[in-house]
Amino acid sequence: MSTMDELRGIVGAAHVLTDADAVAPYLVDWRRRYVGRAQAVVSPATTEEVARIVAWCAQTRTPVVPQGGNTGLVGGATPDDSGRAILLSLKRMQRIRAVDPANNTLTAEAGCVLLDVQAVARAHDRLFPLSLAAEGSATIGGNLSTNAGGIQVLRYGNARELCLGLEVVLPSGDVWDGVRGLRKDNTGYDLRDLFIGAEGTLGVITAACLKTFPLPRAQVTALLAVPSLRAALQLLEDAQGRCGPTLTAFECFSDFCLALVERHFEGRRSPFAERHPHYVLMELSDHEDQQHVTTLAEGLIGAAMESGLVRDAVVAQSVTQARALWSLRESISEAQTHEGKNIKHDIAVPISSITRFVDATDALLQQRFPGARMVTFGHLGDGNLHYNVSPPVGMDEASFLARQPAIYATVHDQAHAFGGSISAEHGIGQLKRDENARYKSAVELQLMKTLKQALDPLGIMNPGKMIGS
Ligand SMILES: Cc1cc2nc3c(=O)[nH]c(=O)nc-3n(C[C@H](O)[C@H](O)[C@H](O)COP(=O)(O)OP(=O)(O)OC[C@H]3O[C@@H](n4cnc5c(N)ncnc54)[C@H](O)[C@@H]3O)c2cc1C
Repeated sequence: MSTMDELRGIVGAAHVLTDADAVAPYLVDWRRRYVGRAQAVVSPATTEEVARIVAWCAQTRTPVVPQGGNTGLVGGATPDDSGRAILLSLKRMQRIRAVDPANNTLTAEAGCVLLDVQAVARAHDRLFPLSLAAEGSATIGGNLSTNAGGIQVLRYGNARELCLGLEVVLPSGDVWDGVRGLRKDNTGYDLRDLFIGAEGTLGVITAACLKTFPLPRAQVTALLAVPSLRAALQLLEDAQGRCGPTLTAFECFSDFCLALVERHFEGRRSPFAERHPHYVLMELSDHEDQQHVTTLAEGLIGAAMESGLVRDAVVAQSVTQARALWSLRESISEAQTHEGKNIKHDIAVPISSITRFVDATDALLQQRFPGARMVTFGHLGDGNLHYNVSPPVGMDEASFLARQPAIYATVHDQAHAFGGSISAEHGIGQLKRDENARYKSAVELQLMKTLKQALDPLGIMNPGKMIGS
């Protein structure tokens, strides 16, 4: 029996793809920066099938690359070009195993699409607050494996904070059943946290018990034009002071970002008559009623306009208008892709250092790479900026990309100097693996390698990602 026949015996012939055309979409990452090769794309439907496949991989020393929606931005779900790996697609594992509104939990399999999980929660009058622009394709397994952030971290935390328990297939093929809906459990090391954010390097997440929350009764979404990033940060402080946990999103983007969206998406337009340096997209979510949250928003915006923190404001009057405002923020990544190759950074610095970081780094980049165009946007409320760089007008892509290492070094050195992170929410994958090693201490790197060696002594789980050999 051929090795592929053994895999077919586990999942059925229809779920082992080897045809070049069929496997091609799985072997290229979302940004089209990496193209890998694989023996096959294998799609199990149950935890037991995953366990049998991984046990087979351990036995045959075959590398295994887990993949969910393939929307990751650091090449973590793309195999190398050796052609030895199997790509393990979790997309068929789409069952919602349980919904427990009284416990405010929901148990979903790894391949459930984030948007569907949100909908299931909503159908039970609950909120699953993880939300990001790729939610129509990204999966729960991928969200947890990258410890995804998104637009409501400010209020609800990132994927790690939204997960109470996990089921994981270990690199040996054994299954760890840790799907517990407990908010308190001090009975040993927190194994769950090991696998969250591990990018598939320690095991395959097959299911998760997720936290849900009471569904807000009313919301206000507003786009606010602000004169500077400094003003946006002061506004954030005021909004937190006035609105407390009602403030659920506080996103920021520059006018350059808005112009990119207008250029590449027909019908997506600034609602303002004039241009402004920056915009804040703010959302308040309330458990009383519309009148209560509207009064809160009007008080905040009125005071901010009086003090000059806000120059102009649009408050959505309907769900459709709110979606239109969100679409301006959520189209920036794609607009940048349409504009051409760009160099992305996903940095975090303490919120109190953001303006100093941006002022200093903008100046340094202009000095070293004159004409570089800054595409600065992100989750201001989390201190997380997608501080991206587009080439000077007229520069060809190849010449620009040749500068990537130097641009990375400039921005990441700055983030590090300001006490920040070089990857706030997208992870490390293969894109930032070597870069990460420059900033982690020897002790931290060794600890990571010790954990990897202990859990995956054969080195078969997503090799080459996150940590080097
Ligand atoms: C337009 C756009 C906007 C985005 N916005 C955000 C954002 O705001 N915040 C944010 O954090 N991210 C964002 N992302 C990045 C991406 O969507 C997230 O990282 C997402 O969580 C990845 O989910 P996925 O299912 O697509 O994972 P994949 O891309 O398939 O995989 C990502 C990593 O997880 C591993 N993996 C996947 N499934 C499993 C599993 N079941 N078990 C073990 N390992 C697994 C893979 O091997 C890989 O290393 C964005 C991406 C796009 C394209």
